[in-house]
Parts: sequence; structure tokens; C-alpha cells
Amino acid sequence: MITVKALQLGFGEGSQYQQVLHDVGFSVGEGEAFGLVGESGSGKSTVLRCLAGLYSHWHGEMTIGGRALGHKLTRERCRLMQMVFQDPYGSLHPRHTVDAALMEPLVIHRMDRQHERVSQMLVKVGLNESFRHRYPHQLSGGQRQRVAIARALILEPRILLLDEPTSALDVSVQAEILNLLAELRARDGLTYILVTHDLGVVVHLCDRLAVMQQGRIVDTLASSALGNGGVTNPYTRTLVDAT
Ligand code: ADP
Ligand code: MG
Repeated sequence: MITVKALQLGFGEGSQYQQVLHDVGFSVGEGEAFGLVGESGSGKSTVLRCLAGLYSHWHGEMTIGGRALGHKLTRERCRLMQMVFQDPYGSLHPRHTVDAALMEPLVIHRMDRQHERVSQMLVKVGLNESFRHRYPHQLSGGQRQRVAIARALILEPRILLLDEPTSALDVSVQAEILNLLAELRARDGLTYILVTHDLGVVVHLCDRLAVMQQGRIVDTLASSALGNGGVTNPYTRTLVDAT
């Protein structure tokens, strides 16, 4: 469903120029959960940001359902694909209530049944009406991430791009959010691309994964291979040993 081919991106000018993505390529099937793992600075978030349409100066080719993604963030792309950040404040405004956060995309996209869609979405992510008028600072970390997930899903996208969605949370809350993400995917047949440095998260949630190192994909494997010692790439082995 999603293909990324020869994706390249750099930042800076002249002698300051730094190539961050070198020839990144992978494909993700419809309904699949695909993990991108690798050490900090390897370029994982940058790949997601390219897909999400947050950068426009990349080279290469990205397609969804056979259609090429352009360099602009279109309404259609927003409807198809949404991103969840490590820090829920990446998508929640500190002075907007939960209600406002969930209503905004519905208003922008002129969706019908707005109040009803918000109610249904709150239930879907394990919250209820009593949260509608709270501000982000009146929520726990886990509740805040639930609201960020609700906002990402309110336009009913087919694809969720998840950038370290549990890394900022307490360990007990991490499990709750991972279970919620697994549940949502099972129920709605969503496709996930999940970035993490935590292999436990990948084993829990992903079907396959790619390992990134210095802006390149150095290995692609089934996440079941992580559990049974079938991993041959030395870099992957250190990642496995580290958990
Ligand atoms: P990861 O998510 O794997 O930790 P990132 O994709 O965030 O890595 O970053 C990869 C590299 O690109 C890092 O060296 C980072 O400093 C650099 N980088 C990321 N975003 C920018 C930016 N907007 N401007 C300049 N350099 C950036
Ligand atoms: Mg990152």
C-alpha cells in the first residue's frame, strides 16, 4: 500500500550541508504494522515527517495505493494519513480544550455530525464526555496521548504514523497505550508505521521492521525474528541484546 523508494533528504547549505537520509526504501502492506528502529539520530523521524508531508525538499518517490505523493501537504493527504508524536503537545495546543482539539479537524474538513463524532472518538480511545472541557494540563500523560491519538483518528485516516508514541510515558502507561493502539488497528484495519528505539514496542505491535543506521536501512525483517535468535545482522543483534 505504501512504497518509499530512494528517499533522500539533507539540511543546511554549502559547507553546512548534512545529508540525513541516503536512499531509504521500504514498502508496507495494507493493514500492516511496520516498525522503523535504530539509534537516536539515524533518521527515523525524518522519514515519517517526509511521509506526513512536513518536509517538501526530499528527493525520491513515495506512493500510497499506487499514487505518487507530492511535495505539498494536501487535504487529501491529511484525510489519508495522520501522525502521532512522542510529546502529545506536538499535536495538542495547551490552551485548547479536548473538545476544541477534536473539533478543529472536523470543522476544517467540513465533516458532518461533528459533536457525535467527537463523542464516539472519546469512547474509542477509552475516555468519555467528562474529558471534553479539560485542558491538556488537566490530563495525565497517558490521557493526553489518548487525546492526541483521538485527534489523529478523528478524520478516519487509513494510515497512522507513530513517532515514539510511548517513549515519554511511565512504563505502566506505555502498556496501556500500546494495547489501545493494537486494539484500534485490529478494529479498524489501520496501517501503522511506527518509529521507536524500543524493540519491546516493535515486538508488541509490529509485523515487520526495518533497522536504520546513519540515514540508511541496513536490514528488514519480520518482528517474530527478534524473539527466536534468527537475527543475523550484527547491528540488529546489539539492539536485541540491549533490551
Ligand atoms: P531519529 O528520529 O532517528 O532520532 P531524526 O530523524 O530526528 O533521527 O534526525 C536525523 C538527523 O537529522 C540528526 O542528525 C538530526 O540532527 C538531523 N535533523 C533532523 N531534523 C533536522 C532539521 N530540521 N534541521 C537540521 N537537521 C535535522
Ligand atoms: Mg526521532
